[in-house]
Amino acid sequence: MPNPARLAALQAIQQRQPLACEATPPLAKIWASDVFTLGRMKHALPKEAYKAVRKVIRDGGKLDLDVADVVAQAMKDWAVAQGAHYYAHVFYPLTNSTAEKHDGFISPQGDGDAIHEFSGKLLVQGEPDGSSFPNGGIRSTFEARGYTAWDITSPAYLMRTPNGVTLCIPTVFVSWTGEALDKKTPLLRSNSAMNRQAQRLLRILGNQEVAPVNSSCGAEQEYFLVDTQFATLRPDLLLAGRTLFGAPSPKGQQFDDHYFGAIPERVQVFMQDVEQQLYRLGVPAKTRHNEVAPGQFEIAPVHEAANVATDHQQLIMTVLKGTAKRHGFTCLLHEKPFAGINGSGKHVNWSVGNSTQGNLLDPGHTPHDNLQFLLFCAAVIRGVHRNGPLLRAVVATAGNDHRLGANEAPPAIISVYLGQQLEQVFQQIQRGEATGSASGGVMRLGVDTLPEFPKDAGDRNRTSPFAFTGNRFEFRAVGSGQSVAGPLVAMNTVLADSLEWISDRLEAEMASGQTLEQAAAAVLKQVMDLHGAAVFGGDGYSDAWHREATEQRGLENLRNTAEALPVLRRDDVRELFQRQAVISPVELESRYEVYGEQYVLAIEVEARVALAMVRTQISPAVDKQISSLARSLQQQHALGLQPDQRRLHQLSDLQRQMDEHSLSLEGELDSLHHGDTAASMHHCAQVILPRLAQLREAVDGLEARVDDDRWPLPSYREMLFVR
Ligand code: ADP
Ligand code: MG
Repeated sequence: MPNPARLAALQAIQQRQPLACEATPPLAKIWASDVFTLGRMKHALPKEAYKAVRKVIRDGGKLDLDVADVVAQAMKDWAVAQGAHYYAHVFYPLTNSTAEKHDGFISPQGDGDAIHEFSGKLLVQGEPDGSSFPNGGIRSTFEARGYTAWDITSPAYLMRTPNGVTLCIPTVFVSWTGEALDKKTPLLRSNSAMNRQAQRLLRILGNQEVAPVNSSCGAEQEYFLVDTQFATLRPDLLLAGRTLFGAPSPKGQQFDDHYFGAIPERVQVFMQDVEQQLYRLGVPAKTRHNEVAPGQFEIAPVHEAANVATDHQQLIMTVLKGTAKRHGFTCLLHEKPFAGINGSGKHVNWSVGNSTQGNLLDPGHTPHDNLQFLLFCAAVIRGVHRNGPLLRAVVATAGNDHRLGANEAPPAIISVYLGQQLEQVFQQIQRGEATGSASGGVMRLGVDTLPEFPKDAGDRNRTSPFAFTGNRFEFRAVGSGQSVAGPLVAMNTVLADSLEWISDRLEAEMASGQTLEQAAAAVLKQVMDLHGAAVFGGDGYSDAWHREATEQRGLENLRNTAEALPVLRRDDVRELFQRQAVISPVELESRYEVYGEQYVLAIEVEARVALAMVRTQISPAVDKQISSLARSLQQQHALGLQPDQRRLHQLSDLQRQMDEHSLSLEGELDSLHHGDTAASMHHCAQVILPRLAQLREAVDGLEARVDDDRWPLPSYREMLFVR
C-alpha cells in the first residue's frame, strides 16, 4: 500500500477520464486561422502596402514607417475582431524560453472615451525593461534599456488563453548599443551569411539566376508526460525538471514495447488537442508517436524556413506545456527526467536551398547537380571537422550532459555520418578516381551520377551526432529543452565559412588555368585530405570509436558543459563569428557568461532541492522506519525470539551514508561561487554532481528498503506506467 498522499493521487488518476475532445474541425477551417498570414495581409492591405511587405519578407530591407502604420492598423483590426485586447512583442532571450511584453491596444481619449489604437511605431519597435534578462555583462542595470524590433519574416499570431486573446508579434531583442540579447538576431544574421556565400558559389558554378538561399529546419521534439497528481508530490520534478532520486522500476524500457506502441487514450486526446492548437497557429505538426521510454512521446512538424521553424518550435514547447496541464499531465522537456530511462532529444533536420536551384543538399539525378551537391556536402564536412567543438558547445546544457555519450544519444565527439554510398563517393574523390572532366556540355566529376539515396534514411545510424539523411543533415545531439536557434546559428555559420573557403579555392584554381571541373575535383580532394577525419560510419557508442576518434583522428571529446562552453572563448571561434558577421566578440563573450551561469544555476538548484527533500521528506520517513523496526525487533526479542538484525543494519548504514553525503554536498555548495564562471562550472561538474550522485545512491537504496506506505515520493513505477 503506498503512503496516503500517493494513494490519493493514484486513485484520482485511475478515475480520470480523457478530456472530452471536440471532433476535429476540417483542416481548411482551422489551418493558420490565428495567424496574420501573407494571404490575410493581401486581403487587408492596399496593394502597394502589401507589395512592400512581401518585398521586405523576400529580399530583406526595412519597411517604411508609413507602410508600417497601414500594416499595424490592419493587424490590429483583424486581432480585435478575433477578441484581442492586448498585443505582445514576443522575443527569445538567452534562456531557451520565450518572453513577452504585453500592452493594451487601449488609448484613453480626451473626452473620457477610450479606443483601440496601434501604430506602425508600436508594431515595429518596443522597449521592454531589459534588465531582468540575462545579458552576460553587456549592459549594467542603469543602462538596462533593451529594444524589441519586429521580425517581419515571422508572421504575427494570436495566443488564446483562458485570460483572453493576445496578438503576438515575433521580434528581435537588442541592447541600446545594438548588441543581440536574444537568439533570433544571430539566427537571422547567420542565414544572411550563409546566403551570401551560397549565392557566390552557385554563381561560380555557372548559375545565371540565383534566388536568395535560406536554411530550413524540421525539429523532432521528444517529451515525457507524467500525471500532475504525481508530479506535484515531487519537488525535484517541479523545481529541477528531473527526478533527483528514484529507485529503478522493476519494469523499465527493457521490453522495448513502448516504441511506436499504441498511444494511451488520454495521451491521444492530449495530442489531438495540441495539434489543433498548433494548426490554428500555422504550425505544421505532422508526426506523433510513442518514443523509446515509457511515458515518452514525440511530435515533429514539417520543415520550414529556419527562422519561422525556430519560432514555431518555441510555440510547440509552450503549447505542449500548457495543454498538458489541462489534461492533468505535466509535460517534461528536460533531457533526462528519469535516470536509467532514455532521455529526450530534439533532432534538428537542416538543409539549405532556394527557389532557383532547389535543395542544395539534394544529390539530385544529374551529374550537374552532383557537382553542386558534392561541393555543398564537402562544405558541411569541412565545417564539422573544423568546428566540431563549437557544435558540441551549442548543445552544452546541464540537462543534455546526462544524455550525450551515455549510450542512448550521440557521443560528445562530433563526427559526420554520410551513409555507405556517399562515403564511397568521397573516398573515390580522395583517391583521385573521380577527376573532373567536361563532356557534351555537361559537367562531370567521374562519378557520373550519384546513386539514389534513400530519402528517409532516418535512423540507419542512430549513433552519429551529425548524419546525412538523403537530402538534409540531422543534428542529433540537440537537447529536448533547448531552443534550436543556437544549433542552427552554428550550422549556418560554419557552412558559410566553408563555402567561402571553397569559393576562394575554386577561383584560385581557375585563375591558374584549370577548368571548373578540374578545380572542383582538386578542391573536393583537398577537403577530404584535410577534413575527412570527421567522416565516420561505424558505431559511435563503442569504446573503440572513442579511442580512435581522440587518439588517431584528433577529434575532441568534450564530456560536459564545463569543458564544452569555454570553446566559445577560443580565438578561432571568435574569428569565425566575426568574419561572417554573425556574433560580435562582445556578444560571444556575453553568451559564454550567460550559458555558464545557467549551467551553474541549474546544478545549484538541483543540489538545494535534493538537500531539502532529504531533510524534510526522506529523513523523516527513514527515521520512522528505523524506530519502528527497532521496536519490533525489541518486542520479538522480549518474546524470546532471535530476530534477524540485518535489515536494521542495512537501513542505518544507508542512513549514515545519506547524512554524510548531504553534509558534504552542503559544504561544497558554500564554495560554489568563489571563482569566475569557469571555476564555478568545474566545481559543479567535478564536485557537486558526483556528490549528488552519491547522495542519490544512498537514497535510492533506502527507497528499496523503506515500507511503501512510508515513502513520500511517487516511484518510477508509478510515474512511468500509470495513466
Ligand atoms: P525520423 O524520425 O526518421 O528522423 P521524422 O519524419 O520524424 O524522421 O522527422 C524528419 C524531419 O525532417 C521532419 O521535420 C521533416 O519535415 C524534416 N525534413 C525533411 N526534409 C527536410 C529538409 N530538406 N530540410 C530540413 N528538414 C527536413
Ligand atoms: Mg530523426
